[in-house]
Amino acid sequence: MGSTESTGGAGPRTVRAARGTTLTCHTWQTEAAYRMLSNNLDPDVAERPEDLVVYGGTGKAARDWVSFDAIIRTLATLAPDETMLVQSGRPAGVVRTHEWAPRVLLANSNLVGDWATWPEFRRLEKLGLIMYGQMTAGSWIYIGTQGILQGTYETFAAVAAKRFGGSLAGTLTLTAGCGGMGGAQPLAVTMNGGVCLIIDIDPGRLRRRVGARYLDTVADNLDEAIDQAVAAKRDRRAVSVGVVGNAAILVPEILRRGVSVDIVTDQTSAHDPLSYIPEGVGLGDAPDYAATKPEEFTDRARASMAKHVEAMVGFLDAGAEVFDYGNSIRGEAQLGGYQRAFAFPGFVPAYIRPLFCEGKGPFRWVALSGDPADIAATDQAVLDLFPENESLARWIRMAGERVAFQGLPARICWLGYGERDRAGLRFNEMVADGRLKAPIVIGRDHLDCGSVASPYRETEGMADGSDAIADWPLLNALVNTASGASWVSIHHGGGVGIGRSIHAGQVTVADGTSLAGQKIERVLRNDPGSGVIRHVDAGYQRAEQVAEQHGIRIPMRESGGGPS
Ligand code: NAD
Repeated sequence: MGSTESTGGAGPRTVRAARGTTLTCHTWQTEAAYRMLSNNLDPDVAERPEDLVVYGGTGKAARDWVSFDAIIRTLATLAPDETMLVQSGRPAGVVRTHEWAPRVLLANSNLVGDWATWPEFRRLEKLGLIMYGQMTAGSWIYIGTQGILQGTYETFAAVAAKRFGGSLAGTLTLTAGCGGMGGAQPLAVTMNGGVCLIIDIDPGRLRRRVGARYLDTVADNLDEAIDQAVAAKRDRRAVSVGVVGNAAILVPEILRRGVSVDIVTDQTSAHDPLSYIPEGVGLGDAPDYAATKPEEFTDRARASMAKHVEAMVGFLDAGAEVFDYGNSIRGEAQLGGYQRAFAFPGFVPAYIRPLFCEGKGPFRWVALSGDPADIAATDQAVLDLFPENESLARWIRMAGERVAFQGLPARICWLGYGERDRAGLRFNEMVADGRLKAPIVIGRDHLDCGSVASPYRETEGMADGSDAIADWPLLNALVNTASGASWVSIHHGGGVGIGRSIHAGQVTVADGTSLAGQKIERVLRNDPGSGVIRHVDAGYQRAEQVAEQHGIRIPMRESGGGPS
């Protein structure tokens, strides 16, 4: 079978990326795109592969099956000096470029300002003219739940660094929402050495996470859950405990009981008031109720979120570290009538922005050989390259032990400016000298320092008020195109919804050639470099220091002699 193994004819079918070193495409640069598109749709990776949906509600890898076939066919024949243009998951054209140009350029879900609304998007989607690309779904670099686990690990590591001396040992985190993304919280907390008490109204969600070893145990009731969590905190054991219940009831109750909680956050599906289950509504009744009386349901959900957030602010007033984990619960609680909802910050301004100022962000890679030994070898290479970074070493070791691969073997970690290119070049050398069996694909989430404008999340509360300026992600995509990335994408709406974000992605293939080495050197410097520049421009001092330290040129800060 070819490079993409698929069965079942022209419509929905099972797709998996091929493994090994036999090429279907002319070069590894296109072969990588071919395999990564297929990998996004692997049934072990994608949520609804039959609909081409990879993750995040309706985030798709291709618009429809006819478009998927056309992309695959085009990649298989694409010359090393050609570039395929993909418009919202459909291949629109092929243009002659050159070897340094990306092999694929993608634009997904983009709408002009006044038209950037869900109803208009849905109308166009129904007409078959557009698709929702999320972030890594439409840019062919999704690697399963490891991505969210690592991001969550990194956030809690940053909480630990800011407030608890670098470790969560001896601390108790209270949160709710143990679903697709929120389910990463208990493991991310215990990986940082802490205790996690997590509430979910759906016992099935908690049990599923125990099955995946993301959650240690589910208590029979609240008393037992509190006892277990408090004992573990006292003994400085890293343990996670789940408890079934409605967060709008249990969070205020835990506050009322005076439990000594150190960190409070939430990942219930608050961004969509028809998904947050109001107080007094049964789990089984909620879908019908939401469908038949959406306005009444919304009012009740918002009223419950108001109580939930009021209790979170109660913990804040008692001295706990409290943050919004990107689910808009503060905004919904405010709509529900609670005035102090924004008393605590979002997680990006609180913990992630200082990392963004250093060009630090998500760095992920995938072994095209399909051999887990290649990831083990790259894990070791990262440990060797950055021996001083303890949090990174802890993550890489624990990920090696605890993360099951979905689809092609992959790894993710956060690296900063000056680190990403070093890792990429090392991988390229390892491909060249045969330590790795096949090339490595290096990419990232769009949630990065220079690649996103998202005023409710990544760019909330920028120092200069530039939250909604989307020039930055567009420049980031142009920089990566000019620097030699293998494919580059510009998306709209991922994570937070239509009208709320614009973001860009890049993927670069380490195929062991010296040309790939030159491209990696540029892309993996300039990509985070654009993030440092963005934060210098917004007035962050740490970014200025990093720019100066690494010689990143900022024209407005260079003294000009003027024309002579
Ligand atoms: P999900 O729908 O898979 O899970 C939500 C969970 O919340 C479910 O398990 C549900 O049972 C539970 N829940 C709903 N109402 C509840 C209530 N009143 N009390 C207790 N539990 C309740 O969603 P997900 O993919 O896990 O994402 C969760 C939220 O986090 C979303 O709003 C998402 O947008 C946000 N999110 C933010 C980031 C980020 O910014 N870092 C990343 C991922 C997800």
